[in-house]
Amino acid sequence: MNTSTNTSTQIASHLLRSRIGKICVAITGANAEELIEKATAVLKETTFLEFRLDYLAKPAAALPQLKEFLAENGAATVIATCRCKDNGGKFNGSNAAALDILMKSAEAGFQIVDIELESIEKLPKGTMAALREAGAAVIISHHDFHATKDLDRIYQRIEPFGPDFIKVVPTAKSLTDNLTLMHFLERMEDRSNSSIVGICMGEAGIISRVLGLRAGSAFTFAAATVGEETASGQIAARTLIETYRIDQVDAATKVYGVAGNPIRSSLSPLMMNTAFRRETVNAVYLALQTNKADDVFKLAKEVPIQGLSVTMPLKEDIIPLLERTDPLSAKIGAVNTVLRAQDGKFYGFNTDVAGIVGPLERRLSLKDAKVLVLGAGGAARAAVFGCRDKGAEVWILNRTPETAQKLARQAGAKTIKREAVAKMGFDVIINATPIGMTGQKGAALLGPEDLTARIVFDLVYNPIETPLLKMARQKGLTAISGVEMFVQQGARQFEIWTGKPAPEEEMLRVVLHALRQGAEPSGETAAAPAPVAAEPAPVKAVAKAPEAAKPAVKSVPVKAAPAKVVAKPVKVVAKAVAKKAPAKVVAKKAVAKKVVAKKRSR
Ligand code: NAP
Repeated sequence: MNTSTNTSTQIASHLLRSRIGKICVAITGANAEELIEKATAVLKETTFLEFRLDYLAKPAAALPQLKEFLAENGAATVIATCRCKDNGGKFNGSNAAALDILMKSAEAGFQIVDIELESIEKLPKGTMAALREAGAAVIISHHDFHATKDLDRIYQRIEPFGPDFIKVVPTAKSLTDNLTLMHFLERMEDRSNSSIVGICMGEAGIISRVLGLRAGSAFTFAAATVGEETASGQIAARTLIETYRIDQVDAATKVYGVAGNPIRSSLSPLMMNTAFRRETVNAVYLALQTNKADDVFKLAKEVPIQGLSVTMPLKEDIIPLLERTDPLSAKIGAVNTVLRAQDGKFYGFNTDVAGIVGPLERRLSLKDAKVLVLGAGGAARAAVFGCRDKGAEVWILNRTPETAQKLARQAGAKTIKREAVAKMGFDVIINATPIGMTGQKGAALLGPEDLTARIVFDLVYNPIETPLLKMARQKGLTAISGVEMFVQQGARQFEIWTGKPAPEEEMLRVVLHALRQGAEPSGETAAAPAPVAAEPAPVKAVAKAPEAAKPAVKSVPVKAAPAKVVAKPVKVVAKAVAKKAPAKVVAKKAVAKKVVAKKRSR
């Protein structure tokens, strides 16, 4: 290529880069009509698209219609991709046949074409120049479907071709793989003449889809809607825009997240990002899928992450890695909230307790109340210790009696047999087992004759109206949905992290909406799997149930009933933590010891 062509190519490439947005939406379809229909819908939200021509039954035959579409939609910038099967795509033909389609795409008006490194390496030397001469900017991409490794070596293979964009897409097997990718992006940003696009595929790679931009990725990819993902871990465009507010993520954006496994179905990103947006906090909250506490910790230190929600299976494992934790969390042996304080150290709290005790205390005084807890797992421990802490008398009924006995001993509670329940009068019955959860098999733990309490609190929140709550309501008892716990524990986390009152009503609204829609974590409403289980919450039941969660949340001011442990006014906690000497924070070693001692047989 001569110098003047080179210069004009560079100018064209520069103009193109200034025209594209941060999100490129991948569009798939079996034929041109479908592709165009989907693209037309997406164009209302974003003008940067990728047409996956390899998904078409006959890509070449579709080009005349796609040419028309491009001519009619001058604002759109569209990438043509025709990935061969060997490289993880769906195109059956040879590299030369795929190139032919890309050449014709460029001539048809596609502004960018994406060719795989493995293809261009096998094609004739002039391929790059030919694509440019056909009128398109070029992405050379590399996908690793197994690991995140050798990124620099891949870059070195691509760079000599001098493409406009170098796209490197490994697979995250751990959260720390995202760090590898983001460090790579940071290194390359100043070094490379090409724009770099970097994303980690896989559920553990979700963080890279949001924070990769900040590390230097020219753009990121999104699915058109839930269910139309073209890569594992891909997020729908609306989720990236509305939930993660990707356009506003900048160097000052504080990062939070929920760590555990599985996490894709968690409603926490939807609820917490909604809260941050509502309170105009420059923060983003991400799903961090991992089984390993040290994996999330390494990520948290380096990103840095300001706060974590911790869920199964990490609630216990995380404790030894924390600087300190509050006394009730230590007793329970579980932390669901981590705060990175101003000293850069991590402190643990348990807001599950507040999520259970708060809703109850709005309805009765727990002092001397008789409480039956079903289950002896993590949620049950929060319920038992929380109620005991408030002066309640607690009985535990569990499938495995030994676990119940152990918990009873630890918490100063009693165990009870199934046959004895109906004869005992309780003020409160709390279900802390998964029985009643959508998709969960297992016989009801109690029958109507056993519901001798005034209040029945089912910690299960999908469906919103569980069979247990339905039974309680039929008996005229007060029924509390697990949604209330979910929102309350999240609200307390928000307060610990930000020092601001949580927008509880808004958090409740989006969670209820998502559960009703059987939506993705983002709250999207496509035919997605239900958030916490296999099928959507029955709309009919939901329609009957709103009082389960609403009145209490509405009637209680945010600061009215936080549990003693987590939210003596949050600012006080945060301040104390910052000084490393909170009145009720116990030493790390002591907690770790307890955790080891407590390795219980759950
Ligand atoms: P976990 O630690 O696994 O404990 C589960 C408990 O349920 C154990 O005591 C277990 O008994 C018992 N159990 C499990 N399957 C059973 C069955 N088929 N029949 C009788 N008992 C059974 O789980 P977790 O973290 O405590 O969570 C329990 C439930 O609480 C979850 O399913 C979730 O729906 C709910 N939850 C809600 C929130 C919220 O924010 N609303 C938060 C956390 C949890 P064994 O000891 O015999 O195994």
